[in-house]
Amino acid sequence: MAKDFSQYKEQLKELVKSKGLKYSSQREDILKTLFNSKKHLTPEEIYTEVKKINKNIGLATVYRALSFLESEGLINSISFGVEGKKYELNRGEHHDHMICLKCGKIIEFFDERLESLQEIIAQKHDFKLITHELNMYGICSNCQEEES
Ligand SMILES: [Zn+2]
Ligand SMILES: [Zn+2]
Repeated sequence: MAKDFSQYKEQLKELVKSKGLKYSSQREDILKTLFNSKKHLTPEEIYTEVKKINKNIGLATVYRALSFLESEGLINSISFGVEGKKYELNRGEHHDHMICLKCGKIIEFFDERLESLQEIIAQKHDFKLITHELNMYGICSNCQEEES
């Protein structure tokens, strides 16, 4: 079942406490923005959204909070080459991404075969697999149509 926002907020509170940090509503606002978004967002897009609920927030704060939340595993990022990163809330449901190099569209997918293949490969190398990210870069169907 999908978690509601109060559970993410609790998670953030616990985390901040365990780190001995002060609770800031800014981190919560950013988390909320990602919770409400169905898309993967750039830091600038997050900034624009979060400003609607917190007028005083600055872009640098957004960047700092994002890297904190990512390093603690509450959010994930997808790397976009030179353009930087897009973020999403870690909803605890693993998936991988296909990224269109023309329009930036992101397709999420999950394939059990790919997951178990990685386990097999890791075992072969006596490697204890903990997590992985897979990004496939290419051209989406819309952009292929425009090309031809
Ligand atoms: Zn495209
Ligand atoms: Zn995703």
